[in-house]
Amino acid sequence: MDLPDFALRCGWPPKEAVVRARLGALGCLVTCRRCQGSGKYEHNPLDSRCYGCGGTGQRLPPLTARLAAQIRERQDRGELKPYLEQCRQRRAAAASAPGR
Ligand SMILES: [Zn+2]
Repeated sequence: MDLPDFALRCGWPPKEAVVRARLGALGCLVTCRRCQGSGKYEHNPLDSRCYGCGGTGQRLPPLTARLAAQIRERQDRGELKPYLEQCRQRRAAAASAPGR
């Protein structure tokens, strides 16, 4: 399934950055095979950033209905709470930072 569909099943906003971050928090990202997780690919003509993973070394796993169901279950058990709390605190800190 495509990413917005997957996000919807998880009850998440249909944005790739959000899905990627949350799957990462749950340890569901997979190591990029092109760069073996280094984020660098030396054979590019322009720079050495791996295009397969955008230089992060990790890629989204196959977005299946089964994975979405597993994610929902783990969410219901509260496994994503520490991550969401972290995000909330970061947002609050950014909002109270001077010069904004
Ligand atoms: Zn890569």
